[in-house]
Amino acid sequence: MRKPIIAGNWKMHKTIEEAIELVKGIKEEANKTDVEVVACCPFTVLSEVKRTITGSRVKLGAQNLHWEEEGAYTGEISATMLRNIGVEYVIIGHSERRQYFHETDDTVNKKVLKAIEKELKPIMCVGETLEEREGDKTFEVVKTQTLGGLKDVSAAAMKDIVIAYEPVWAIGTGKTASSEDANKVISYIREVIKEKYDDTVSEMVRIQYGGSVKAANASEIMAESDIDGALVGGASLDAGSFVEIFNF
Ligand code: PEP
Repeated sequence: MRKPIIAGNWKMHKTIEEAIELVKGIKEEANKTDVEVVACCPFTVLSEVKRTITGSRVKLGAQNLHWEEEGAYTGEISATMLRNIGVEYVIIGHSERRQYFHETDDTVNKKVLKAIEKELKPIMCVGETLEEREGDKTFEVVKTQTLGGLKDVSAAAMKDIVIAYEPVWAIGTGKTASSEDANKVISYIREVIKEKYDDTVSEMVRIQYGGSVKAANASEIMAESDIDGALVGGASLDAGSFVEIFNF
């Protein structure tokens, strides 16, 4: 049985005061559910959010990291720094990072490997653009991104990896993939994992859907056989709607 995981991706939102208010609004409810609830916050609020969620079941996540240990990388944050402030999950290869910050499967892979080495749990994002979908390339794109990101990742490490299937055209647009379509692509990703590893890993790995998930569509999405959770952007910024989503 795969434990559902609902993660909020706050992106570049929330000051310290706003972040504290948001997590205070979700932690009581998170304590009542068996769903794993993660708040992926901007670096600047991680410490305060950690303080606020301590003693609750909410898990702390970051949205990026650098693959080097330390050094002259102005503006970057290392895995060790994230561990040091109690981060457990880290989003890697979000489409906004691929699109605006030129991340590639190769850099995604370096980040995934460093995260694993430092015992951070990657939420590795894959997904096709609208153009790729219309060109019938969805399966090819998610296969390339999945295998590229997981290069040299051992079967043993897969227990701590979450994959988020996020069709780029559905992120922040209000357009959602139909739950059947999302399930089809996620089942395919599971097949790709099975070919690379084996049945056990493929049945164990958790794969989320992301792309305009909200309270109104969460239960339908979560009812699909291969979808184990959601990566939620916009709707995670409001405590009430995020609570409704993880209580799908
Ligand atoms: C995301 O940021 O990963 C995302 C899916 O955003 P939204 O839910 O706003 O589409």
